[in-house]
Amino acid sequence: MKKPNVVVLGAGYGGLMTVTRLQKMIGVNEASITLVNKHDYHYESTWLHEAAAGTLHHERVRYAIADVIDQSKVKFIQDTVEKINLEEKQVLLQNHEPLTYDYLVVALGFESETFGIKGLKEYAFSIANVNAARQIREHIEYQFATYGTEEEKRDERLTIVVGGAGFTGIEFLGELVNRVPELCREYDVDPNKVRIICVEAAPTVLPGFDPELVEYAANVLEKKGVEFKIGTAIKECTPEGIIVSKDDQVEEIKAGTVVWAAGVRGSRVIDESGFEAMRGRVKVDPFLRAPGHEDVFVVGDCALMINEETNRPYPPTAQIAMQQGEVCAKNLAVLIRGQGELQPFKPDLKGTVCSLGHDDAIGVVFGKKIWGTKASVMKKVIDNRALYLIGGPTLVAKKGKFKLL
Ligand code: FAD
Repeated sequence: MKKPNVVVLGAGYGGLMTVTRLQKMIGVNEASITLVNKHDYHYESTWLHEAAAGTLHHERVRYAIADVIDQSKVKFIQDTVEKINLEEKQVLLQNHEPLTYDYLVVALGFESETFGIKGLKEYAFSIANVNAARQIREHIEYQFATYGTEEEKRDERLTIVVGGAGFTGIEFLGELVNRVPELCREYDVDPNKVRIICVEAAPTVLPGFDPELVEYAANVLEKKGVEFKIGTAIKECTPEGIIVSKDDQVEEIKAGTVVWAAGVRGSRVIDESGFEAMRGRVKVDPFLRAPGHEDVFVVGDCALMINEETNRPYPPTAQIAMQQGEVCAKNLAVLIRGQGELQPFKPDLKGTVCSLGHDDAIGVVFGKKIWGTKASVMKKVIDNRALYLIGGPTLVAKKGKFKLL
């Protein structure tokens, strides 16, 4: 009998978890597994804010895919996926011949969503991948270096605007407030000249988080110099900064750096390929399959699942992407062998921890609120656990975070 072709698109949390679990479950002769990813490395998306602020070197954030896949069972292709042809069961790649699949796993992750706000795409940065994070770090350093050398000082060079006080925005601010004093020392810049402004359209920082923890986070960041503009919408981004409005009052904020951290969507490949989707996210069935396509699984940020308790979609998180990868691998093994029953996906939400720099954090873990040192240590345990689940103790030893404070 012909071996089925399993093609996995994307080596983020969802894709790598699927592949590393599946390679342990099935034998070489049972299926051909192909993994496609833009780069030959995986990056920890949940650490990108650190690389963007410059508090963690980008090499620490990524590792070689070859280090975690079993190359006797998995063929790796480094390429960009352009489109999935669902009728022909083919994946179109930028630089290789099309791939034909019997089973497909789409795990292409997230992209920045600018909601059509004028100028954001052109003039704002977003923490979307490892190279985008490096660009933000280098841009901020360039602004400090230029300020130090220019004769007629332009103070707005040293203003950094962060759009969005959600999870990503707050984690990035937590790193920035630690990095800015270092940059001031490195480039002989007066710290009083630097402004870090966070603009959030919702009426609170970290919408949806516990109010006591929100207050803790906002106080920590304000004490370290962040100015919050809450209930304020970004109307436009320009080469000079941003235009915001609050209660019909319009204001221009001049800034040398604008980082948009207020929106993500699923991969545009989902839209290009004709899936039924909302902002690149496919509403999957309980077994993680795309409606009408029983041979196509979608995991991670490209998948949309409704939490029956709240009647709202589960947020796109690495935690869910990894758990989905595990269930997806089990379901693929059932289909490959033609034995057993498909397992429905039920998220096992252990909690959320939001870092405020390397030495502080807030969170709710197993239903308990934590903050300060305890939360910060927990955050590193979570980061190391993600490495362990994909690459075992060897990967933790290579890339883990051991400096707990
Ligand atoms: P991704 O991790 O985005 O991986 C997708 C992969 O596909 C990447 O390797 C990418 O290069 C590749 N790819 C994309 N397009 C193509 C293409 N066309 N062709 C080939 N390859 C392609 N979640 C948490 O649970 N906890 C946190 O603390 C947390 N913190 C975060 C902090 C930040 C700064 C950010 C940005 C996100 C954070 N998240 C967190 C969310 C989490 O990172 C995402 O939910 C998670 O990365 C989704 O995993 P994924 O496997 O769907 O996709």
